[in-house]
Amino acid sequence: MEENVCLSQEAEPPGQHAGLTGLALDELFQNSLAVPAVTPVTKAIASRVFIMPSRGAAACKPSPRSQSFRKQYFPDASAADWNDWRWQIRNRITGAGMLSRMLWLSAGEETAIQARGGAIPLNITPYYTSLLDPMDPDQSLRRMVVPVSAEFERSRDESDDPLGEDHDSPVPGLVHRYPDRALFLVTGFCSTHCRYCTRSRMVGKHEETLADRDRWERAIAYIENTPAVRDVLLSGGDPLTLPDEALDWLLSRLRAIPHVELIRIGTKVPVVLPQRITSGLCHTLKRHHPLWMSIHFAHPDELTFEVSQACNRLADAGIPLGSQTVLLAGVNDSVETMKRLVHALVMNRVRPYYLYQCDPITGSAHFRTPVAKGIEIIEGLRGHTTGYAVPTYVIDAPGGGGKIPLLPGYVLGHDDQYIRLRNYQGRTFRYPDLAAVTDSEARV
Ligand code: SF4
Repeated sequence: MEENVCLSQEAEPPGQHAGLTGLALDELFQNSLAVPAVTPVTKAIASRVFIMPSRGAAACKPSPRSQSFRKQYFPDASAADWNDWRWQIRNRITGAGMLSRMLWLSAGEETAIQARGGAIPLNITPYYTSLLDPMDPDQSLRRMVVPVSAEFERSRDESDDPLGEDHDSPVPGLVHRYPDRALFLVTGFCSTHCRYCTRSRMVGKHEETLADRDRWERAIAYIENTPAVRDVLLSGGDPLTLPDEALDWLLSRLRAIPHVELIRIGTKVPVVLPQRITSGLCHTLKRHHPLWMSIHFAHPDELTFEVSQACNRLADAGIPLGSQTVLLAGVNDSVETMKRLVHALVMNRVRPYYLYQCDPITGSAHFRTPVAKGIEIIEGLRGHTTGYAVPTYVIDAPGGGGKIPLLPGYVLGHDDQYIRLRNYQGRTFRYPDLAAVTDSEARV
């Protein structure tokens, strides 16, 4: 652990949210639907990190943890303010002065926050800040959002665009790599910045230009003119930081394209800004089915009372939920932590979908694990827990090769007409392999 220091400088002004061309998002916020009461919850499963909500009970309140944090650090804010996602965005923690009043910053954290240039800016919602351990810079959640000086060290093979997305971009803000799928980067804004972000080259830097209606029109025109695209993934930045009206407009335009069968949204908002998952938003989203959602979870401690409700609302809106998790050293790189995470996810109707090897983004060496660690985790899950709870471990090939799945070595080889296999307990089995029989007979 690094030495703790306390800063005394004044708070920076709250971050401003960029918007669509000619219309600040704050204006859209003012015009957007009122935030309704949150989803009912009645029954807590015995766990510190997640709750299984049920339908039809009274509206819930923020957790006691949230309430106490709000009263301590935002004494002028009401419970309704705290529950308003627009208030959360307006009051993001964006500077060392603000953060040091809530956490004791280590020397490495303080240096990194002050340096700023070159790295993704500090940016955390008050809600997510309430989950951080004020005294422990090594806490998993804190490591994911508070910068450290190691971010400024560029290691071998690291890159600002490790997946080569810019190379596969036929129009600005759209990546077309796989023939039938397109990645639509609809905004550069995120409510909270992850320190290992693959898109750190754009997140927090080009918010105004990405969420630009002319850019959107060009990307939509490209999709309209490319009949092979049957699946559009909205990402960014975080699409769910857009107002309901903007999302509705965008989804309506995409839904009007006959060859677009499926729309997906990639987001971390349900984790870092669960207040955004209002019934108004769910009502908007469910009008555009089939709509799937990939949520960026990283650690079981993220499955809080509030997040559980957010997932419940999305699932009740008929949206299939998957989780995409980046394997991070010192955060979630153990079978025990990953098992807690995947169990919490399936309890909240989120299917663990991908476990990603961390991309070699510039300054990420302190987050990256050996590939053997990912395989060890999959080996510790497969056969040892529910199959639905086991994600696919992948490396997104540097330079744009796409996702390549990695598995423990379950195939031991062939004996004549049998394939030799190893199960989760290490026992070996033989299976009659028809292809091997055919080959063998052909050879005779
Ligand atoms: S939410 Fe996604 S896009 Fe935003 S900073 Fe985190 S990883 Fe990057």
